[in-house]
Amino acid sequence: MTVAVLDSTKEMTRRTFAGASASTALAMAQAGPLTAQQVLDRIKANLGVPWREATVDTIKTANPQQTVTGIATSFTSTMDVLRKASSKGLNMVIVHEPTFYNHEDKREDLAGAVFTAKAAFLEKNGLVVLRFHDHWHARRPDGILVGMVSELGWEKFADPANPRRFVFPPASLETVAARLAQRLDVKTMRVIGDRKLEVRNVILAPGYASLPGVMRTLERDDVDALVIGEAREWEGVEYARDAVALGKKKALIIVGHSMSEDGGMKECAKWLTSFIPEVPVEFIASGEPYWRP
Ligand SMILES: [Zn+2]
Repeated sequence: MTVAVLDSTKEMTRRTFAGASASTALAMAQAGPLTAQQVLDRIKANLGVPWREATVDTIKTANPQQTVTGIATSFTSTMDVLRKASSKGLNMVIVHEPTFYNHEDKREDLAGAVFTAKAAFLEKNGLVVLRFHDHWHARRPDGILVGMVSELGWEKFADPANPRRFVFPPASLETVAARLAQRLDVKTMRVIGDRKLEVRNVILAPGYASLPGVMRTLERDDVDALVIGEAREWEGVEYARDAVALGKKKALIIVGHSMSEDGGMKECAKWLTSFIPEVPVEFIASGEPYWRP
């Protein structure tokens, strides 16, 4: 009999939730205040790809059972982002990049006034930081790419066979770069290549580009320009400079890491809202770290 009761409860639950998404169902099933751990569990449940064993996507601070009053998303948890989030009552910050300046957010090797003050600010204001890097990229389509394409308004130029490739009506490199800078509001973009180079085929690769990545991409016949967040200046950057010097009709556009991915975390806020109805979810831009004299 007990079994029957349980089964009918399950059936009712199934029916009740049949019209709602799995995510909303999970939200409804969780009574009581929303915790940081529950937010992470819902992200895992809604991601659509398996959660990895080895990942940097973990809660970096505070108690995972802490009650969440609101969520901010951003490229990274700059002091500016943390202050804004805290003042808005958004005590969970979901970010793409590390909080403590190294990939694993290890604190052992960190010392000094900046690290101490940042750690103290997080503690004092009860902020929970969750990094959401590996899995937001692993989602299909890649969440960062979706957000950046939307920021750029490039959807209609996308190559159906390659989500990172875009085919535009021909324009000079100078024009293409200027449009890109204006659209993303980048003040310190850097460009390698002939200003008058005719550009039609562009690969968009937000974030860091390794040397093999830059080499392989610029080698392709169906690529005129590669847009990246950053590359080491003695690797991919010099490779591109030599490619141009050797007469290759290629260009490398460097947007800056933050500016190449921030829009992807705006998309993340939108996505989180679809299965976290209880608290406000807001994107706070990390913005550009540089200024130009
Ligand atoms: Zn990234």
